[in-house]
Amino acid sequence: MMLWDNVDHNAEEQIERIAEAIGSNDKIVSFEAVLRDPDGNDFKTSFEKCSCSDFKKRKLPCKHMYSLAFFLGLLEKLKVEKNLTRKDMGIPAGTVFHIEYKGSDGKVSERDIEIQKITLKNDKLYLYAYCHISHSVKTFLANNILSMSYEGRQIKNLRKILEIEYPSPGDLVAKLAAEALEPS
Ligand SMILES: [Zn+2]
Repeated sequence: MMLWDNVDHNAEEQIERIAEAIGSNDKIVSFEAVLRDPDGNDFKTSFEKCSCSDFKKRKLPCKHMYSLAFFLGLLEKLKVEKNLTRKDMGIPAGTVFHIEYKGSDGKVSERDIEIQKITLKNDKLYLYAYCHISHSVKTFLANNILSMSYEGRQIKNLRKILEIEYPSPGDLVAKLAAEALEPS
């Protein structure tokens, strides 16, 4: 998007104002934006609040508020490395998820896994899980998990959940677990 492309920024009056803006010590203390996601949903976002359900529920900065801060250069993009254990996520011991997984060789396999830990590292999400096929703990790249179900119930929003651009791991997993563990 070009800003004000029908304005002559070289006009004397505009140059004066541009120079004042460059020399200005004004600070942004409040900012209201409308963010549109790829599905066309609009969110009214500011530093104080957001119209999304995540903010309404948690009253803590949501991904839109972080996006806004990143966009305005007010916050460095976080290089997160977060670990969440099964306990952190509130997943009971012995909970078995069924997944379809695309390996690095492109082959798709079906496995029963018990999630032990989820790690978010440089924007990639990894699941460490005990695999019932190999009888060992394996690392699964979340993006290669094609589907996941719990007791026959599909976790519907898996792709969406895993493709959040700046996921807050707690959230992510809470959503995963809530979808999987909600009573049918
Ligand atoms: Zn939001």
